[in-house]
Amino acid sequence: MQDISKLVVELVNGNRRALSNAITLVESSRADHRAASEILFDGLLNAGRREAVRIAVSGPPGVGKSTLIDALGCMLADQGKSIAVLAIDPSSVRTGGSILGDKTRMGQLASHPGSYIRPSPTNLALGGATLKSREVVFLLEQAGFDYVLIETTGVGQSETDAAEFSDVFALLLAPAGGDELQGVKRGIVEFADLIVVNKADGNLSDAAIATAAEYLGALRVTAARDRRPPGSPKVLTCSAVEQSRLEKILDAVAELVDWNRANGEWSARRRSQDYRWLEARFREHLQSALTSSRTLKMRYRHIEGLLQSGSSIFSSSVTNELQRLTSQVSELLETIDDAETNGPT
Ligand code: GDP
Repeated sequence: MQDISKLVVELVNGNRRALSNAITLVESSRADHRAASEILFDGLLNAGRREAVRIAVSGPPGVGKSTLIDALGCMLADQGKSIAVLAIDPSSVRTGGSILGDKTRMGQLASHPGSYIRPSPTNLALGGATLKSREVVFLLEQAGFDYVLIETTGVGQSETDAAEFSDVFALLLAPAGGDELQGVKRGIVEFADLIVVNKADGNLSDAAIATAAEYLGALRVTAARDRRPPGSPKVLTCSAVEQSRLEKILDAVAELVDWNRANGEWSARRRSQDYRWLEARFREHLQSALTSSRTLKMRYRHIEGLLQSGSSIFSSSVTNELQRLTSQVSELLETIDDAETNGPT
């Protein structure tokens, strides 16, 4: 068991090894690690809450997310800001994260002393990835980074989740026609605070400008969302490789952050994020409580055995057993309700 209070002190003092250890602890699904994580969170909160500007960069594979994050991160680092990068999409491992290593992918930024690039997790179940990513973002904030850049592709839930726990959600597109052509999930454009068409260089320049115009036109006809600065989302073009027009992106981010802060949106978002975090923690606790019951586990194995011996998943034997199991859990919960109602007030 690690010394959690020591870990807290080292983490808030900017010790990178402590940060990496804390992230590994938080990403673990072992029950004792989970318990230690909660003590760690409590200790970190007692040390005082810190806030970073969280920018999520989302977009289809190959659009230039890593290149852009590398370049934007360096610009911010040159301004004296400290930057942490987190890839929350397990699929990025498949597209090169684990082969080349994220450090290699973001070579320039990695060489900045003020930056920290968290390699993509390789062993997170998709379902659990969101809770863990949220917690890792919290660790990065408590470690005192000015900016947390979150990279995600439109696979699974990660994109909408990233939109939910970031302050600025930037959607990165390539110079090409509509959403379907680019493999962008329908509806995700609505979440975007900022739309950036990358690769506006060489012979792709005109196509990039045309794509930006197309999105701008499409966004004008959709109703403007509340709680956004007027004229949002902005549609910009840039070249991550040539590092051109990147300052426009940083200006737009600063504008969004200022507007959110001035209009109460910043704290409203953070509050609603805490509610979701609470809900995710509640589910996790509930699930681990249920799966730690010996009887429940035994009965569940029995149902699995029915499948193994050839019963269909919708056969009456499986359905009946499942119903019996869940109604027993419900009865148990009712006894808690009864005790609560009848007990001393
Ligand atoms: P990701 O999968 O979205 O992270 O994309 P990468 O950042 O790995 O980039 C994918 C490919 O696009 C690489 O070959 C990059 O060199 C190239 N690329 C990235 N940004 C630009 C850009 O602004 N212009 C051009 N022409 N190519 C780019």
